Amino acid sequence: EKFVEIKNISMNYHTLDGETEALDHLSFDVNKGEIMAIVGPSGCGKSTILSIISGLLKPTSGEVLIHRKVVEGTNKSVGYMFQSDHLFRWRSILENVLIGLEIQKKLNEENIHRVHKLLDTYGLKEFKNHYPNQLSGGMRQRVALIRTLAIEPELLLLDEPFSALDYQSRLAVSDDIAEIIRKEKKTAIMVTHDIAEAISMSNRVIVLSNRPATIKNIHDIQLTCE
Ligand code: ADP
Ligand code: ADP
Repeated sequence: EKFVEIKNISMNYHTLDGETEALDHLSFDVNKGEIMAIVGPSGCGKSTILSIISGLLKPTSGEVLIHRKVVEGTNKSVGYMFQSDHLFRWRSILENVLIGLEIQKKLNEENIHRVHKLLDTYGLKEFKNHYPNQLSGGMRQRVALIRTLAIEPELLLLDEPFSALDYQSRLAVSDDIAEIIRKEKKTAIMVTHDIAEAISMSNRVIVLSNRPATIKNIHDIQLTCE
């Protein structure tokens, strides 16, 4: 079942010193429940793709459909996880995880209970009243993921989520995060320049080999050895 449809998107950025073509008529689909990794060198348009899917950025041409509806502006059903954890240092872990619900004015008893359960399930039970600085970088990324899950997004977008971590923690944390995404049965699109990380976390890898990313140099690899 097609869940996200990227249809013929192009993106040209206009800057003071001219124009940058970031995406050139790119198309691909993401199926429901799939964890897709998009890999490619720096500057090939990976972040641009995520920004367009999230609705933060409007493509120059083409369109994105989620659940067969055209994406226009940001959407509650999309959760974004960034390179750094973006946790508020003066707020406890629990308070951080509740931020999304607070913003959406959905801080009711049922949702708070659900958030406690998420924290308990994923090893953060004893850390609810700790502050971000008391946790390791890997643990903080786990908190960031749970904060994203708290708003119950249907689609998760992860932009180089582990690039701030050292190599050893990356390996452990990336497996950890992939398992949470699978258990929660989310569809996810992750961007990374680390091919090993892409292969270990996802079940499908799209490799962008040129700049700008275009349909002609997209390599779509299904990982089916289970
Ligand atoms: P990646 O995530 O693969 O590193 P990006 O999507 O960040 O690639 O960038 C693709 C290209 O678009 C690069 O050449 C980059 O410099 C350019 N670019 C990205 N964002 C902007 C922007 N806001 N304004 C101008 N150019 C941009
Ligand atoms: P990444 O490659 O990890 O996506 P970058 O360091 O390329 O991140 O970009 C960081 C931010 O700067 C992004 O918001 C991107 O849109 C913006 N950006 C990137 N390239 C340019 C550029 N040439 N001009 C203006 N903004 C840019």
